[in-house]
Amino acid sequence: MLLFTPGPTPVPESLRQAMALPTIHHRTKEFEAIFAKAREELKALLGLPEVLMLASSGSGAMEAGVLSLCKSKLLSINCGKFGERWGKIAKAHKIPNTEITHQWDTPANVDEVLEALKSDSQIDAVAIQICESAGGLRHPVENIAKAIKSFNPNIIVIADAITAMGVEPIDTTHIDALIGGSQKAFMLPPGMSIIGLSQYAIDIIEERNVGLYFNLATELKNQRKNTTAWTAPTTIIIGLVAFFDLVAKNGGIQNLYVHTKKLSIATQSALESLGLRIYPKEKALAMTTIYDEANAANIRSTLKTFDVNVAAGQDHLKEKIFRINHMGIIPIYEATWVVNAVELSLDVLHIRAFDGSANKVFLDSYYKS
Ligand SMILES: *Cc1c(COP(=O)(O)O)cnc(C)c1O
Repeated sequence: MLLFTPGPTPVPESLRQAMALPTIHHRTKEFEAIFAKAREELKALLGLPEVLMLASSGSGAMEAGVLSLCKSKLLSINCGKFGERWGKIAKAHKIPNTEITHQWDTPANVDEVLEALKSDSQIDAVAIQICESAGGLRHPVENIAKAIKSFNPNIIVIADAITAMGVEPIDTTHIDALIGGSQKAFMLPPGMSIIGLSQYAIDIIEERNVGLYFNLATELKNQRKNTTAWTAPTTIIIGLVAFFDLVAKNGGIQNLYVHTKKLSIATQSALESLGLRIYPKEKALAMTTIYDEANAANIRSTLKTFDVNVAAGQDHLKEKIFRINHMGIIPIYEATWVVNAVELSLDVLHIRAFDGSANKVFLDSYYKS
């Protein structure tokens, strides 16, 4: 079965092999050297002065980021399941919170964020997703972050890049905390989160020094010395170094960005040529989300008979959408099979007769445009 869900993603052979080696202790020179390599690679990838690796899934770093960086009030962008999580984190920690909410297909815009900041001077942090995975939606985070900083450079910008890191180049010039997770584009098992930090964020973290397990000041102190406050997720960090090696072997990260973009656009074109509708108004590159109120659930289950596993929706969209992953290093022959399988499924369900056009549109788009 081809795993084509937007997280977790399949773990490639070379990463699995690296992680299959005998366990090493985390307080050793040997592991410190691996940790140092992972830190350097991540800092280069994110273009930020500091990065922390935490033993948690992505949501752990979201919580750590809000807790450490928001002093008085959080403005969060809620256009899906993950955007909603910011508000839940704030509530759990009794941090005052206000939200900008949209339908899951609609991105936030610069004007409404500035409007919210102007009308409430208590807000000292803004949290947003780069790709809101609930609908495969891309928010214009770079523009929003830039506008926030020109309005007031002291307002913290927290960006959840869990389905953007390793997918596309991210301009972090105006971002203070950039969050990632191991089980998406890094093609690793779940269990490690990442948080890249600006100098401004580092200053605030060190000054505030909050939390215990997720105390980022303690982590900064340790991780600068290539160790961690608590037991490190050693296996996943070893896998992360293997990920960077694999990317290098495949022509480097810029090549991967180009490949992912082509794959994403080719899939979108192929599915649209079958008469299917893309759900979000602004599509993220990490995944393609199809909206089909009547048939999404049937298409998804029929896809399994062609050995393809894609994700359903969540909450009110559960049976109305399906989501196809583009994160990681995906072979073209697998991605073309997925659009073929969708076309075959439409035929099985008597929605549209098979004529092989999805494959043709996909390959034309990938290789000829
Ligand atoms: C997967 C994901 C998360 C993190 O979820 P975890 O289950 O905690 O790893 C957060 N935000 C987005 C946008 C995601 O896609």
